[in-house]
Amino acid sequence: MKKIISVLLFVLFWISPIKASEPQPYVLLISLDGFRWDYAERGITPNLDKIKQEGVSALSFKPSFPSVTFPNHLSIITGMYPQNHGLILNFFENLYGERYRLSDTNAVKNPAWYWGEAFWETARRNKIITASYYWPGSEVWDENRRPNYYKAYNHNEPHENKINGIIEWLKLPYNERPHFITLYFHDTDSEGHKHGTNSPQIDSTIAVLDSLIGVIRQRIELIGMKDSVNIIILSDHGMSNIREDGIINIKEIIGEIDCDVNSSSAITMIKPKNEKDIELVFNKLKKAEQNYKVYYKKDVPAYWNFSRNPYIYPIVVIADVGYKLIYGKSTYNAVAEHGYDSHHIDMHGIFFAVGSKFKKNYRVGTLENVDIYPLLCEIFKIDGRSNIDGNINRIKYLLK
Ligand code: AMP
Ligand code: ZN
Ligand code: ZN
Repeated sequence: MKKIISVLLFVLFWISPIKASEPQPYVLLISLDGFRWDYAERGITPNLDKIKQEGVSALSFKPSFPSVTFPNHLSIITGMYPQNHGLILNFFENLYGERYRLSDTNAVKNPAWYWGEAFWETARRNKIITASYYWPGSEVWDENRRPNYYKAYNHNEPHENKINGIIEWLKLPYNERPHFITLYFHDTDSEGHKHGTNSPQIDSTIAVLDSLIGVIRQRIELIGMKDSVNIIILSDHGMSNIREDGIINIKEIIGEIDCDVNSSSAITMIKPKNEKDIELVFNKLKKAEQNYKVYYKKDVPAYWNFSRNPYIYPIVVIADVGYKLIYGKSTYNAVAEHGYDSHHIDMHGIFFAVGSKFKKNYRVGTLENVDIYPLLCEIFKIDGRSNIDGNINRIKYLLK
Protein backbone atom coordinates (compact mmCIF):
# COMPACT_ATOMS: atom_id res chain seq x y z
CA MET A 1 0.00 0.00 0.00
CA LYS A 2 2.77 2.40 0.96
CA LYS A 3 4.45 1.66 -2.30
CA ILE A 4 1.26 2.41 -4.26
CA ILE A 5 0.79 5.73 -2.46
CA SER A 6 4.32 6.80 -3.14
CA VAL A 7 3.96 5.87 -6.83
CA LEU A 8 0.73 7.87 -7.00
CA LEU A 9 2.36 10.87 -5.33
CA PHE A 10 5.28 10.61 -7.73
CA VAL A 11 2.92 10.56 -10.73
CA LEU A 12 0.86 13.49 -9.40
CA PHE A 13 3.98 15.48 -8.68
CA TRP A 14 5.21 15.07 -12.24
CA ILE A 15 1.91 15.41 -14.10
CA SER A 16 0.45 18.55 -12.53
CA PRO A 17 3.40 20.91 -13.05
CA ILE A 18 3.65 19.81 -16.69
CA LYS A 19 -0.01 20.64 -17.30
CA ALA A 20 0.23 23.95 -15.48
CA SER A 21 3.38 24.99 -17.30
CA GLU A 22 1.89 24.43 -20.76
CA PRO A 23 0.20 27.71 -21.67
CA GLN A 24 -2.85 27.66 -23.92
CA PRO A 25 -1.86 28.51 -27.49
CA TYR A 26 -3.42 31.37 -29.47
CA VAL A 27 -5.01 30.84 -32.88
CA LEU A 28 -6.27 33.56 -35.20
CA LEU A 29 -8.38 32.02 -37.99
CA ILE A 30 -8.83 34.37 -40.96
CA SER A 31 -11.26 33.65 -43.79
CA LEU A 32 -10.91 35.47 -47.12
CA ASP A 33 -14.23 34.76 -48.83
CA GLY A 34 -13.93 33.43 -52.39
CA PHE A 35 -10.11 33.71 -52.47
CA ARG A 36 -9.36 31.17 -55.20
CA TRP A 37 -6.20 29.03 -54.85
CA ASP A 38 -4.41 30.72 -57.77
CA TYR A 39 -4.93 34.28 -56.50
CA ALA A 40 -1.90 33.61 -54.31
CA GLU A 41 0.15 32.65 -57.40
CA ARG A 42 -0.17 35.95 -59.27
CA GLY A 43 2.92 37.65 -57.91
CA ILE A 44 0.85 40.28 -56.06
CA THR A 45 0.77 38.72 -52.58
CA PRO A 46 4.15 39.35 -50.89
CA ASN A 47 2.74 38.76 -47.40
CA LEU A 48 1.33 35.34 -48.28
CA ASP A 49 4.66 34.57 -50.02
CA LYS A 50 6.42 35.37 -46.76
CA ILE A 51 4.16 32.95 -44.90
CA LYS A 52 5.09 30.26 -47.44
CA GLN A 53 8.68 30.61 -46.22
CA GLU A 54 7.87 30.97 -42.55
CA GLY A 55 5.05 28.47 -42.21
CA VAL A 56 2.82 26.01 -44.03
CA SER A 57 1.12 26.49 -47.39
CA ALA A 58 -1.14 24.18 -49.36
CA LEU A 59 -1.45 23.98 -53.13
CA SER A 60 -5.21 24.28 -52.65
CA PHE A 61 -7.97 24.00 -50.05
CA LYS A 62 -10.94 21.90 -51.06
CA PRO A 63 -14.39 23.04 -50.02
CA SER A 64 -17.26 20.75 -49.15
CA PHE A 65 -20.18 20.55 -51.56
CA PRO A 66 -21.94 22.82 -52.37
CA SER A 67 -19.08 25.31 -52.61
CA VAL A 68 -20.93 28.27 -51.11
CA THR A 69 -20.28 30.52 -48.15
CA PHE A 70 -22.40 29.48 -45.17
CA PRO A 71 -22.22 25.71 -45.71
CA ASN A 72 -18.43 25.90 -45.94
CA HIS A 73 -17.77 28.23 -43.03
CA LEU A 74 -19.81 25.79 -40.96
CA SER A 75 -17.85 22.83 -42.38
CA ILE A 76 -14.60 24.53 -41.40
CA ILE A 77 -15.73 25.34 -37.87
CA THR A 78 -17.58 22.03 -37.14
CA GLY A 79 -15.61 19.45 -39.18
CA MET A 80 -18.84 18.23 -40.78
CA TYR A 81 -20.17 18.15 -44.33
CA PRO A 82 -23.13 20.48 -44.98
CA GLN A 83 -25.58 17.55 -45.10
CA ASN A 84 -24.53 16.73 -41.53
CA HIS A 85 -24.11 20.16 -39.90
CA GLY A 86 -27.45 21.23 -41.34
CA LEU A 87 -26.70 24.31 -43.48
CA ILE A 88 -27.08 22.71 -46.89
CA LEU A 89 -27.12 26.05 -48.74
CA ASN A 90 -27.04 29.79 -48.01
CA PHE A 91 -30.84 29.64 -48.04
CA PHE A 92 -33.20 26.71 -47.70
CA GLU A 93 -36.38 25.59 -45.97
CA ASN A 94 -37.09 23.05 -43.26
CA LEU A 95 -39.94 20.53 -43.36
CA TYR A 96 -42.35 23.07 -41.81
CA GLY A 97 -41.64 25.66 -44.46
CA GLU A 98 -39.55 27.80 -42.11
CA ARG A 99 -36.74 29.52 -43.94
CA TYR A 100 -33.05 29.91 -43.26
CA ARG A 101 -31.41 32.74 -45.17
CA LEU A 102 -27.96 34.25 -44.58
CA SER A 103 -29.40 37.75 -44.78
CA ASP A 104 -32.20 36.99 -42.28
CA THR A 105 -30.80 38.24 -38.98
CA ASN A 106 -33.36 36.27 -36.96
CA ALA A 107 -32.77 32.97 -38.75
CA VAL A 108 -28.97 33.14 -38.47
CA LYS A 109 -29.31 33.59 -34.70
CA ASN A 110 -31.55 30.56 -34.20
CA PRO A 111 -29.41 27.70 -32.83
CA ALA A 112 -31.93 25.09 -34.06
CA TRP A 113 -30.50 25.35 -37.59
CA TYR A 114 -26.98 24.43 -36.50
CA TRP A 115 -26.62 20.71 -35.84
CA GLY A 116 -22.84 20.53 -35.50
CA GLU A 117 -20.68 21.67 -32.63
CA ALA A 118 -18.65 24.71 -33.65
CA PHE A 119 -15.06 24.83 -32.43
CA TRP A 120 -15.87 27.78 -30.18
CA GLU A 121 -18.39 25.57 -28.32
CA THR A 122 -15.83 22.79 -27.92
CA ALA A 123 -13.31 25.38 -26.74
CA ARG A 124 -15.71 26.98 -24.24
CA ARG A 125 -16.43 23.56 -22.73
CA ASN A 126 -12.68 23.32 -22.21
CA LYS A 127 -12.42 26.74 -20.55
CA ILE A 128 -10.81 28.40 -23.55
CA ILE A 129 -12.03 31.95 -24.20
CA THR A 130 -13.07 32.56 -27.83
CA ALA A 131 -13.99 35.55 -30.01
CA SER A 132 -15.28 36.20 -33.49
CA TYR A 133 -15.12 39.26 -35.70
CA TYR A 134 -17.62 37.54 -37.92
CA TRP A 135 -18.16 33.95 -38.86
CA PRO A 136 -21.39 32.36 -40.01
CA GLY A 137 -23.11 30.81 -36.99
CA SER A 138 -21.28 32.96 -34.44
CA GLU A 139 -24.31 35.07 -33.48
CA VAL A 140 -26.69 32.43 -32.11
CA TRP A 141 -28.92 33.30 -29.15
CA ASP A 142 -27.67 30.45 -27.01
CA GLU A 143 -24.70 31.84 -25.12
CA ASN A 144 -23.04 28.43 -24.76
CA ARG A 145 -23.13 27.88 -28.48
CA ARG A 146 -21.44 31.10 -29.57
CA PRO A 147 -18.01 32.63 -28.95
CA ASN A 148 -17.54 34.53 -25.66
CA TYR A 149 -17.09 37.73 -27.68
CA TYR A 150 -18.74 38.22 -31.06
CA LYS A 151 -19.90 40.96 -33.41
CA ALA A 152 -23.16 41.32 -35.32
CA TYR A 153 -22.34 41.06 -39.03
CA ASN A 154 -21.91 44.34 -40.86
CA HIS A 155 -21.01 43.94 -44.52
CA ASN A 156 -19.59 47.47 -44.69
CA GLU A 157 -17.46 47.40 -41.56
CA PRO A 158 -14.13 49.10 -42.41
CA HIS A 159 -11.11 46.78 -42.45
CA GLU A 160 -9.40 48.97 -39.89
CA ASN A 161 -12.16 48.41 -37.31
CA LYS A 162 -11.89 44.65 -37.66
CA ILE A 163 -8.12 44.70 -37.21
CA ASN A 164 -8.34 47.11 -34.26
CA GLY A 165 -11.03 44.85 -32.78
CA ILE A 166 -8.92 41.70 -32.77
CA ILE A 167 -5.87 43.57 -31.45
CA GLU A 168 -7.97 44.98 -28.59
CA TRP A 169 -9.10 41.44 -27.76
CA LEU A 170 -5.50 40.25 -27.70
CA LYS A 171 -4.59 43.12 -25.36
CA LEU A 172 -7.23 42.19 -22.77
CA PRO A 173 -6.02 41.10 -19.30
CA TYR A 174 -4.96 37.45 -19.41
CA ASN A 175 -8.03 36.01 -17.69
CA GLU A 176 -10.36 37.80 -20.17
CA ARG A 177 -8.26 37.36 -23.29
CA PRO A 178 -9.51 35.08 -26.08
CA HIS A 179 -7.18 32.35 -27.30
CA PHE A 180 -9.20 31.48 -30.38
CA ILE A 181 -10.33 34.33 -32.66
CA THR A 182 -11.99 34.32 -36.08
CA LEU A 183 -11.84 37.14 -38.60
CA TYR A 184 -13.66 37.40 -41.94
CA PHE A 185 -13.25 39.49 -45.11
CA HIS A 186 -15.88 39.32 -47.88
CA ASP A 187 -13.99 41.38 -50.46
CA THR A 188 -12.62 38.80 -52.91
CA ASP A 189 -16.04 37.12 -53.11
CA SER A 190 -17.89 40.39 -53.77
CA GLU A 191 -15.43 41.69 -56.36
CA GLY A 192 -15.08 38.26 -57.99
CA HIS A 193 -18.84 38.03 -58.56
CA LYS A 194 -18.98 41.58 -59.89
CA HIS A 195 -15.92 41.76 -62.14
CA GLY A 196 -14.72 38.19 -62.72
CA THR A 197 -11.59 36.31 -61.81
CA ASN A 198 -9.27 37.96 -64.36
CA SER A 199 -10.25 41.56 -63.77
CA PRO A 200 -8.00 44.41 -62.60
CA GLN A 201 -10.57 44.89 -59.79
CA ILE A 202 -10.01 41.39 -58.40
CA ASP A 203 -6.24 41.82 -58.60
CA SER A 204 -6.32 45.03 -56.62
CA THR A 205 -8.64 43.41 -54.04
CA ILE A 206 -6.24 40.46 -53.71
CA ALA A 207 -3.38 42.92 -53.16
CA VAL A 208 -5.34 44.87 -50.54
CA LEU A 209 -6.22 41.73 -48.56
CA ASP A 210 -2.61 40.58 -48.75
CA SER A 211 -1.43 43.91 -47.38
CA LEU A 212 -3.96 43.58 -44.53
CA ILE A 213 -2.39 40.23 -43.63
CA GLY A 214 0.91 42.10 -43.40
CA VAL A 215 -0.66 44.77 -41.18
CA ILE A 216 -2.22 42.14 -38.89
CA ARG A 217 1.12 40.36 -38.45
CA GLN A 218 2.84 43.69 -37.77
CA ARG A 219 0.25 44.78 -35.20
CA ILE A 220 0.54 41.40 -33.44
CA GLU A 221 4.32 41.84 -33.35
CA LEU A 222 3.93 45.35 -31.91
CA ILE A 223 1.99 44.00 -28.92
CA GLY A 224 4.71 41.42 -28.35
CA MET A 225 2.67 38.38 -29.37
CA LYS A 226 4.38 37.41 -32.63
CA ASP A 227 5.75 34.19 -31.19
CA SER A 228 2.59 33.10 -29.42
CA VAL A 229 -0.17 33.74 -31.98
CA ASN A 230 -0.65 31.09 -34.66
CA ILE A 231 -2.34 32.49 -37.76
CA ILE A 232 -4.37 30.37 -40.18
CA ILE A 233 -5.50 32.04 -43.41
CA LEU A 234 -7.97 30.15 -45.57
CA SER A 235 -10.92 30.59 -47.89
CA ASP A 236 -14.33 28.96 -48.14
CA HIS A 237 -14.32 28.34 -51.92
CA GLY A 238 -13.00 29.65 -55.23
CA MET A 239 -14.78 31.31 -58.15
CA SER A 240 -15.28 30.69 -61.87
CA ASN A 241 -16.27 33.03 -64.71
CA ILE A 242 -19.62 32.38 -66.37
CA ARG A 243 -19.60 32.01 -70.16
CA GLU A 244 -21.58 34.58 -72.07
CA ASP A 245 -23.80 31.81 -73.49
CA GLY A 246 -23.86 30.02 -70.13
CA ILE A 247 -27.35 30.88 -68.80
CA ILE A 248 -29.71 27.90 -68.41
CA ASN A 249 -33.33 28.66 -67.57
CA ILE A 250 -34.71 25.67 -65.65
CA LYS A 251 -38.27 27.04 -65.68
CA GLU A 252 -38.29 26.95 -69.47
CA ILE A 253 -37.32 23.26 -69.36
CA ILE A 254 -39.89 22.26 -66.72
CA GLY A 255 -42.80 24.29 -68.08
CA GLU A 256 -45.90 25.05 -66.04
CA ILE A 257 -45.67 22.25 -63.44
CA ASP A 258 -46.18 23.68 -59.95
CA CYS A 259 -42.98 23.22 -57.92
CA ASP A 260 -41.16 24.57 -54.87
CA VAL A 261 -37.79 25.64 -56.19
CA ASN A 262 -34.59 26.58 -54.41
CA SER A 263 -32.58 28.24 -57.11
CA SER A 264 -29.02 29.52 -57.04
CA SER A 265 -26.51 29.83 -59.86
CA ALA A 266 -24.76 26.49 -59.51
CA ILE A 267 -27.44 24.35 -57.89
CA THR A 268 -31.20 24.21 -58.16
CA MET A 269 -33.34 21.93 -55.98
CA ILE A 270 -36.87 21.13 -57.09
CA LYS A 271 -39.84 19.73 -55.17
CA PRO A 272 -42.96 19.32 -57.34
CA LYS A 273 -46.03 20.28 -55.26
CA ASN A 274 -47.69 17.07 -56.39
CA GLU A 275 -45.49 14.04 -55.65
CA LYS A 276 -46.78 12.36 -58.80
CA ASP A 277 -44.96 15.00 -60.87
CA ILE A 278 -41.50 14.11 -59.57
CA GLU A 279 -40.80 11.62 -62.34
CA LEU A 280 -42.24 13.89 -65.01
CA VAL A 281 -40.08 16.85 -63.95
CA PHE A 282 -37.00 14.63 -63.66
CA ASN A 283 -37.56 13.21 -67.15
CA LYS A 284 -37.92 16.64 -68.70
CA LEU A 285 -34.66 17.75 -67.12
CA LYS A 286 -32.93 14.49 -68.06
CA LYS A 287 -34.01 14.85 -71.70
CA ALA A 288 -32.63 18.38 -71.89
CA GLU A 289 -29.52 17.54 -69.83
CA GLN A 290 -26.75 19.64 -71.30
CA ASN A 291 -24.13 21.62 -69.37
CA TYR A 292 -25.74 20.45 -66.14
CA LYS A 293 -26.51 17.19 -64.35
CA VAL A 294 -29.83 16.22 -62.87
CA TYR A 295 -30.22 13.66 -60.05
CA TYR A 296 -32.87 12.21 -57.84
CA LYS A 297 -31.82 13.14 -54.32
CA LYS A 298 -30.88 9.55 -53.47
CA ASP A 299 -28.64 9.31 -56.55
CA VAL A 300 -26.50 12.40 -56.01
CA PRO A 301 -22.97 10.91 -56.23
CA ALA A 302 -21.65 9.89 -52.83
CA TYR A 303 -18.45 11.89 -53.43
CA TRP A 304 -20.49 15.07 -52.96
CA ASN A 305 -22.01 14.02 -49.62
CA PHE A 306 -25.21 15.77 -50.56
CA SER A 307 -28.10 13.34 -50.31
CA ARG A 308 -28.58 12.56 -46.62
CA ASN A 309 -30.42 15.56 -45.34
CA PRO A 310 -34.19 15.98 -44.99
CA TYR A 311 -34.11 19.50 -46.43
CA ILE A 312 -32.65 18.48 -49.80
CA TYR A 313 -35.46 18.45 -52.36
CA PRO A 314 -36.25 15.29 -54.39
CA ILE A 315 -34.59 16.62 -57.58
CA VAL A 316 -31.16 18.23 -57.61
CA VAL A 317 -29.73 20.04 -60.66
CA ILE A 318 -26.03 20.96 -60.66
CA ALA A 319 -24.58 23.20 -63.36
CA ASP A 320 -21.23 22.50 -64.98
CA VAL A 321 -18.55 25.06 -64.16
CA GLY A 322 -18.96 28.05 -66.51
CA TYR A 323 -22.77 27.78 -66.60
CA LYS A 324 -25.41 29.45 -64.52
CA LEU A 325 -28.86 28.19 -63.64
CA ILE A 326 -31.76 30.61 -63.37
CA TYR A 327 -35.45 29.95 -62.69
CA GLY A 328 -37.62 32.32 -64.69
CA LYS A 329 -36.55 35.95 -64.78
CA SER A 330 -33.33 36.85 -62.98
CA THR A 331 -31.99 40.28 -62.21
CA TYR A 332 -28.87 38.96 -60.51
CA ASN A 333 -26.08 39.54 -63.00
CA ALA A 334 -22.85 38.22 -61.48
CA VAL A 335 -20.18 37.44 -64.07
CA ALA A 336 -18.50 34.78 -61.92
CA GLU A 337 -19.93 32.18 -59.57
CA HIS A 338 -19.19 29.32 -57.17
CA GLY A 339 -21.25 26.54 -55.66
CA TYR A 340 -20.22 23.96 -58.27
CA ASP A 341 -18.55 20.54 -57.94
CA SER A 342 -16.16 21.04 -55.03
CA HIS A 343 -13.57 18.76 -56.68
CA HIS A 344 -13.19 21.18 -59.60
CA ILE A 345 -9.98 23.16 -59.10
CA ASP A 346 -11.74 26.50 -59.78
CA MET A 347 -13.75 25.91 -56.60
CA HIS A 348 -10.64 25.41 -54.46
CA GLY A 349 -9.44 28.07 -52.06
CA ILE A 350 -6.25 28.77 -50.11
CA PHE A 351 -4.67 27.54 -46.91
CA PHE A 352 -1.71 29.18 -45.16
CA ALA A 353 -0.60 28.85 -41.54
CA VAL A 354 2.22 30.34 -39.53
CA GLY A 355 3.22 30.26 -35.87
CA SER A 356 5.00 28.21 -33.26
CA LYS A 357 2.72 25.18 -33.73
CA PHE A 358 3.30 24.92 -37.51
CA LYS A 359 6.21 23.57 -39.52
CA LYS A 360 8.34 26.07 -41.43
CA ASN A 361 8.65 26.36 -45.20
CA TYR A 362 6.45 23.29 -45.52
CA ARG A 363 4.43 23.01 -48.72
CA VAL A 364 1.71 20.43 -49.09
CA GLY A 365 -0.90 19.39 -51.66
CA THR A 366 -4.65 19.80 -51.28
CA LEU A 367 -6.23 19.97 -47.83
CA GLU A 368 -9.91 19.39 -47.00
CA ASN A 369 -11.88 21.95 -45.06
CA VAL A 370 -13.61 19.45 -42.71
CA ASP A 371 -10.16 18.70 -41.28
CA ILE A 372 -9.72 22.16 -39.72
CA TYR A 373 -11.93 21.39 -36.68
CA PRO A 374 -9.84 18.38 -35.62
CA LEU A 375 -6.67 20.38 -36.36
CA LEU A 376 -7.83 23.10 -33.95
CA CYS A 377 -8.63 20.47 -31.31
CA GLU A 378 -5.14 19.05 -31.75
CA ILE A 379 -3.48 22.48 -31.44
CA PHE A 380 -5.36 23.18 -28.20
CA LYS A 381 -4.97 19.56 -27.02
CA ILE A 382 -8.68 19.17 -26.31
CA ASP A 383 -11.11 16.41 -27.18
CA GLY A 384 -13.45 17.37 -29.99
CA ARG A 385 -16.67 15.71 -31.12
CA SER A 386 -16.20 12.28 -32.62
CA ASN A 387 -19.25 12.41 -34.92
CA ILE A 388 -17.46 14.53 -37.52
CA ASP A 389 -16.38 14.02 -41.12
CA GLY A 390 -12.92 15.52 -40.59
CA ASN A 391 -9.90 13.37 -39.85
CA ILE A 392 -6.88 14.55 -37.89
CA ASN A 393 -4.63 12.03 -39.63
CA ARG A 394 -5.11 13.81 -42.95
CA ILE A 395 -3.74 17.08 -41.56
CA LYS A 396 -1.74 16.50 -38.37
CA TYR A 397 1.51 16.47 -40.35
CA LEU A 398 1.30 20.29 -40.67
CA LEU A 399 2.13 20.60 -36.99
CA LYS A 400 5.62 20.51 -35.50
P1 AMP B 1 -22.28 33.89 -51.28
O1 AMP B 1 -21.32 34.51 -52.21
O2 AMP B 1 -23.70 34.05 -51.76
O3 AMP B 1 -21.98 32.45 -50.96
O4 AMP B 1 -22.22 34.68 -49.91
C1 AMP B 1 -21.27 35.68 -49.60
C2 AMP B 1 -21.87 36.72 -48.73
O5 AMP B 1 -22.19 36.18 -47.45
C3 AMP B 1 -20.94 37.87 -48.40
O6 AMP B 1 -20.93 38.84 -49.39
C4 AMP B 1 -21.50 38.40 -47.12
O7 AMP B 1 -22.33 39.49 -47.34
C5 AMP B 1 -22.35 37.26 -46.58
N1 AMP B 1 -21.88 36.89 -45.23
C6 AMP B 1 -20.69 36.37 -44.89
N2 AMP B 1 -20.61 36.15 -43.55
C7 AMP B 1 -21.77 36.56 -43.03
C8 AMP B 1 -22.30 36.59 -41.71
N3 AMP B 1 -21.58 36.14 -40.66
N4 AMP B 1 -23.55 37.06 -41.56
C9 AMP B 1 -24.29 37.48 -42.61
N5 AMP B 1 -23.84 37.48 -43.88
C10 AMP B 1 -22.59 37.04 -44.10
ZN1 ZN C 1 -18.02 32.54 -49.83
ZN1 ZN D 1 -20.04 34.36 -53.42
